[in-house]
Amino acid sequence: MLDADFFRRWMTATAASVDREADRLTALDSPIGDADHGSNLRRGFTAVTAALEKEAPGTPGAVLVLAGRQLISTVGGASGPLYGTLLRRTGKALGDAAEVDEQRFAEALRAGVDAVMQLGGAAPGDKTMIDALVPAVDALAEGFAAARSAAGQGAEATTPLQARKGRASYLGERSIGHQDPGATSAALLVAALCTADG
Ligand code: ADP
Ligand code: MG
Ligand code: MG
Repeated sequence: MLDADFFRRWMTATAASVDREADRLTALDSPIGDADHGSNLRRGFTAVTAALEKEAPGTPGAVLVLAGRQLISTVGGASGPLYGTLLRRTGKALGDAAEVDEQRFAEALRAGVDAVMQLGGAAPGDKTMIDALVPAVDALAEGFAAARSAAGQGAEATTPLQARKGRASYLGERSIGHQDPGATSAALLVAALCTADG
């Protein structure tokens, strides 16, 4: 079973990974964006870990709702409201249970990803974070490691795509040949589930 501590570890592990990879995320956002994705997420997840330490929410749902709210209020870029919605909606779908099993978590995360697609209007293949998140949710029934590799493959598979959403879409065909920064950070978020579990 997954308790509030597991979800806190998930957020802390994501923050550490985003901090480590911030320069790479910003470098990916340079040719097809405005070179701020790493700094955007670093600011956001620093606020997430600070808020979790201060407020110590007691349920899985409350951990994710608080984390989502921090991302929405501290990240100026497109990714803030999108990741914020992902975590908030996932947290709301978990309700006020003290512990949830993997299947319940997978269903909640599916609701979160659907909310991101609704908010941003992106579908799979549009070269966004959705291209890592959807395969991850599909693979989650087979465990965290399967979700991690599906997300990583999904992120890499954005390279030959032309962007149809977000800032990169302004470049049209010139967005082809670059891995999407948001799909790359989404793969870090999913990979952090394994760290939290270990
Ligand atoms: P900004 O583009 O405002 O500077 P970031 O650089 O932080 O924001 O995030 C860019 C990432 O956000 C993109 O690489 C993409 O994965 C994701 N993104 C942008 N727009 C959308 C959207 N409409 N739906 C889903 N993801 C999106
Ligand atoms: Mg950017
Ligand atoms: Mg920006």
